[in-house]
This record gives sequence, C-alpha cells and structure tokens, in this order.
Amino acid sequence: MGFTIEHGCPQCGAALEMDESDHILSCPYCDVKSFLYSQDYFRYVLPDNAPKKELIYAPYLRFKGVVYFCSNTTLDYRIVDITRLGIELKSIPTSLGLRPQAMKLRFVKPELNGSFLKFSLKATDILTSAAKLSSGPSEQPILHRAFIGETMSIIYLPMYIEGNMLFDGILNRPMVKLPRGREDLEPLLAKTSGWGPRFISTLCPQCGWKLDGERDSVVLLCKNCHTAWEIKEGRLDRVNLSIVKGRDARILYIPFWRISASVKGVDIDSFSDFVRVTNQPMIISNERGSKDMNFFSPAFKLRPNFFLNLARQFTILQRDFTGEETFEEKEMYAVTLPKSEAVQALKIILAGSAVNVKNIFPNLPKINFVIKELTLVYLPFEQGPNDMIQEDTGICINRPSLEFGRRM
Ligand SMILES: [Zn+2]
Ligand SMILES: [Zn+2]
Repeated sequence: MGFTIEHGCPQCGAALEMDESDHILSCPYCDVKSFLYSQDYFRYVLPDNAPKKELIYAPYLRFKGVVYFCSNTTLDYRIVDITRLGIELKSIPTSLGLRPQAMKLRFVKPELNGSFLKFSLKATDILTSAAKLSSGPSEQPILHRAFIGETMSIIYLPMYIEGNMLFDGILNRPMVKLPRGREDLEPLLAKTSGWGPRFISTLCPQCGWKLDGERDSVVLLCKNCHTAWEIKEGRLDRVNLSIVKGRDARILYIPFWRISASVKGVDIDSFSDFVRVTNQPMIISNERGSKDMNFFSPAFKLRPNFFLNLARQFTILQRDFTGEETFEEKEMYAVTLPKSEAVQALKIILAGSAVNVKNIFPNLPKINFVIKELTLVYLPFEQGPNDMIQEDTGICINRPSLEFGRRM
C-alpha cells in the first residue's frame, strides 16, 4: 500500500481517508463520488508538530512506478518507490524515508498557512538518478527512458526558523544554520496560486446518470447511455469505446488502449511497414498489411514484464477486433492506466516488439509517434482458476500478476 491521505468529503465534510493511488473519492455518508483532479501535481503536506510557528515547507518529489529504459541492445525496467528532495538545500534530508508511511498526509489547499520552497530540480533528473540510470563512461548510453507512474506528486515537509536555525517542524529538531535567517530562503520561495485538488462530480455529462468506477479507476463508465469518460483539463471528456462481445457466460472484459499511429524516424505507417522494420517472422496478405498500424497497451496496471509481454503480443497479432458499445450484463475490469501513460509507453512497446533491435534501438531518440486514433477496447477473457484467457487469440493473463499490479 502507498501513503494515506486524510481529507474531508467535499459534499458533507465527513473525514475520509484515501490511498495516494486513488482517483475517486467516495463518501459512504452522503454517497457522493468525486473525481480528483489537479492541474499539475497533487501536493500534500506532512502534519507538523509546531502549532505556533510560521511554517516553511520543503518540497519532495514522490514517485511510485516503473522506469523503463533502452540502451544499445537491451530493454529493461526498474520499479522505483521514492520521495526525494526537490530543491538544492544542504543539510536537509534528501529523502523523507518512512515518515509519510507513518503519518497521514493532507492536501495542500489555498487556506493552508505558511510559505513553500520552490520545487526547482527536474523530476526526470531525480528519477534517472533514483533508478541508477546515470550513464557513466563505462556504461552504455541510455537511448530512451519512460516513466510510467502510479503516483507522481509533491510532499512537503514542514519546517520553521528560530533565531537563525532552521528546524524540522515534525521532530522539532534543528537542521541547518541560516546565517541571515529567513532572508536566506526568500529567493527560494514559490508562488502558490491555485494549488489544491479539484473535485469533479461523477455524473454522466451526457445523461446525468451516476458513473461507475472503482477508487483507482481513471476512466468512469455510464451504464445508462453506454459511454466512457476520463478527466481532461479539469472536466469529463468522452473516450472512444469499443467492446468486443464474448461468447461464454463467465467473461471478464479487460481494457486495452488501441493506438492507431504512424511512426516518424523509422517510417512505419501500415502494419506491413511494422512487420518489415521490426523483422517479424511472418508473411501477411496485402490486404492486412496495408491497414493502419495499431499499437496495443494494457489499460490497467500490471507487473512490468507482463505489461510489456501483453502489449507486444497484441501489437504483433494486430487483430481487427470489432466491437459494440453496450455494457449490458457485462463484468468490466477497471481502467487504471490512463491514456496519456499508454502513449508514453509507445516507444517501449515498439522497442519490445522488435525482433531485430538494430533497426529500432539506435533510432529511438529521433522516433516520434503521430497518433491518428485512440480507443478503449474491452476484450473478452475467460476466467480460469490461474489464468484469464482471451477468447479469440488465446493470449493469457496470469491472475496473480493482475492482482499484484493493482497493489503495486
Ligand atoms: Zn460526504
Ligand atoms: Zn450517460
């Protein structure tokens, strides 16, 4: 489990607790569900033990997720779970360690008193060093990195000044001497306008019905008008949807992002281009080969090796799934990986699909994708005791890895 955040229900004010990976705040008292949204990062504070002091907060980057990277010939990944100081300030701990686990975090809100130091380091630099991907002269250069995060937020540590000493506002212990007192920190302060989460109503924008979703869902479903919605720029935005109907009765519908795209830098436009450039050992008909290239990414969290494997299998198979748009009597698995992260993973999926890596890997820095269409496709899986088996292709998802991904 990740960190816990304490928050009042935006409707009735009841004290609620949520996990840092939650996207939906659900209140058992007034039965209202809200979608959480923030323009950039979610920002939290650790509760202080210094009630009468004027607080100054130090920023820490919080990341929990997977860093995928490609060097000359290898594609690999690391699971990263960190909090790292986001400002250059000596004698302040570089990590929050276990503190956020032992305490309950709160959202930074406009009414919170205190000043905030600016998050001034680059998040990608922090993550690169946390994943130990620095490419020293002895190592192979990193040609591409993708950060697929479950959580990326900023946690603030409360501090205060007494005399010319900076104190930790939780332990009330001195941390560092500031020769000129507060003046030393003035240039490092951030503008805090507009910080704080927004709570967006989870009623269907099209028909007004209550949308369906679990606490970690990033797409909500309207089972009344059969539509799917995600948050985009602070409002609910409709997602292209296709549901491939299963034959069996005990079917679980598992979501994938189908991304129709051409690839600049290695010239992939159609499926036959993809087969040629990545050296797939297969012969395809002209009709199949001339179709637009579709990349598939799981739309849910999964152990990284299984994630890559599934994406590769469905991408190489390039099946023309035809779907309908009705949820009637179907059991849907939650979408927990947003569209934007599937797009982030495209280079990794392309690299992971290549049989001949020489055509792809050296070109990774200059490759980019032009996306033509993005659709949420639910595929029918038969539920076995250990595996879920996709009805049309026989592709399996191992049940424990699915459950592990949810808790990752
Ligand atoms: Zn409530
Ligand atoms: Zn609706």
